Amino acid sequence: MRIVLLGAPGSGKGTQAKLLVEKYGVPQISTGDLLRAAVREETPHGIKARQAMEAGELVTDDIVLGIIEERLKEPDAFRGFILDGFPRNIPQAEALDNMLNTIYQPLEKTILIDVDFDDLMRRLTGRRTCADCGQMYNVYTSAPILAEVCDKCGGKLIQRADDNKETISHRLKVYTSQTEPLTSYYKQQTKNVAIEGTGEVEEIFARITTVLDPLVEVIEPESVKEENKEKAVAKKKAAVKKKVATRKKTANKKKVAMKKKPVVKKKAAAVKKKVATKKKVAAKKKVATKKKVAAKKKVATKKKVAAKKKVATKKKAAVKKKVATKKKATVKKKAATKKKVAAKKKVATKKKAAVKKKVATKKKVAAKKKVATKKKAAVKKKVATRKKVAVKKKAATKKKVAKKKKVATKKKTAARKKARRR
Ligand code: AMP
Repeated sequence: MRIVLLGAPGSGKGTQAKLLVEKYGVPQISTGDLLRAAVREETPHGIKARQAMEAGELVTDDIVLGIIEERLKEPDAFRGFILDGFPRNIPQAEALDNMLNTIYQPLEKTILIDVDFDDLMRRLTGRRTCADCGQMYNVYTSAPILAEVCDKCGGKLIQRADDNKETISHRLKVYTSQTEPLTSYYKQQTKNVAIEGTGEVEEIFARITTVLDPLVEVIEPESVKEENKEKAVAKKKAAVKKKVATRKKTANKKKVAMKKKPVVKKKAAAVKKKVATKKKVAAKKKVATKKKVAAKKKVATKKKVAAKKKVATKKKAAVKKKVATKKKATVKKKAATKKKVAAKKKVATKKKAAVKKKVATKKKVAAKKKVATKKKAAVKKKVATRKKVAVKKKAATKKKVAKKKKVATKKKTAARKKARRR
């Protein structure tokens, strides 16, 4: 299957492409997604494309064609592909045709998803995507159960950078001037089918698959195709035979009736009555059947609604549980972190206290030492002073004794002298 999904931004190409991938098993190739990935990874293509994308302009053809050519060469695209957002202008469409024709794998169909312009604005401004699993929502038409939380995985819902009012209106203008002419281009190739793009996602999907299912049948093995052909021919032949036989019978009946005209009149009245009765019965039956169908439909609708409600409730519960589990985990983590921090603080406080104690002890020891040293010095000084005083006293005593001795000696000498003179 080699198809292109055409449609304005917001027409639901991405949503439908994802469903088609599930049904037909061929990859969705979205140039928008490929370019966004290139921008995120800051590849040379991404760096060049960023500015145009942010402004809602088309990225240059050489970049887009390079990306597409590479992607189509990947093995998963050999069985077919669903192009989404490519081509966006006539030169891109011509380049794609050339690419595919050289490998004898031309496009089979292009599907235009038709949506009113007023609707597009609402769809684009309300568009949200899950940052984790890529699930798409719309806050106006298919809102998630919990605001900004993915029903599927509990991930955070984000809005695309280019889904703001100014960029959107520019993108729609670019679509009208450059992309819309592709519809005529593919109409000329008798490949384009337009489908109504409003209603439930499933309804739109059914419209698209009605167009695409026959393409899948073409892939049937040759033997099955031949068998089916023979069956179809036999069916046609039988139908023709039946028709001819019926015609013959009617003609014969008419002939007989013409022969028995008077009887026929009576018979005709009886037939009329019979027919009228039959019609009445049929009408009654029809009404009854309609009523039955309507009742069945009502019950089925009720069941569907109840089932949907149940699913929604379950989903809500699951999402709530998930969110609660996440919260719990976060709270646990926070508590653990707090404990760790408190433990670290305690250790740090202990260390500080130990260091303080050590410093205080050192100071005390130093002070004691100082006091002891001072005391020692004072004692030494005292001893020295005492010694000095003692020495002085001794010297004074000695002096005194010497003086006394001298005086005594002098006295003795004077007395001796006196005695001698006598
Ligand atoms: P989309 O997700 O398809 O709406 O694309 C988002 C943006 O990517 C567009 O507004 C363009 O800037 C750029 N882009 C996507 N596909 C193409 C393309 N085939 N040609 C040029 N630019 C494209």
